Amino acid sequence: MADVKRKTMHVNSALCAGCGLCLNSCPKNAISIHLNKARIDDSRCIGCQNCVNVCPLNAITPNDSDDSSGTWKVKDLRNRIERIREKISQLSRSVEKLKTR
Ligand code: SF4
Ligand code: SF4
Repeated sequence: MADVKRKTMHVNSALCAGCGLCLNSCPKNAISIHLNKARIDDSRCIGCQNCVNVCPLNAITPNDSDDSSGTWKVKDLRNRIERIREKISQLSRSVEKLKTR
C-alpha cells in the first residue's frame, strides 16, 4: 500500500490564548497545553483538522509545506474565508442585539 503523507498542524503561539478548545476537539489526544499555549504531537496527529476548525483565534493552520498536490491552499483558504464569514455574522448579530437594548 502506498504511504500517504499526513499533513501536520502548526500552532501560531502569538495567536494562541491557551483556551483548550482544540485540546477537547482532538480525537487522538495529540494536543496539550504548555505555558498557556497549545502544542501538537505530530506523531499522534491524523490531520483531521478538528482543531483548525474549532479554534476561535485561527491559531492552528495546516502546514502547507506538507502537501504537494497544489490544491490544498485553495481549499484551506476557502475554509478560512467561510469561518471568517461565520464570525462576522455572529458579531453582526451581537451588535444588533446590543442596539435593541
Ligand atoms: S483553541 Fe486556539 S486559542 Fe485555544 S488553545 Fe487551541 S490553539 Fe490556542
Ligand atoms: S488535526 Fe486532528 S488529530 Fe491532528 S491535532 Fe488537530 S484535532 Fe488532533
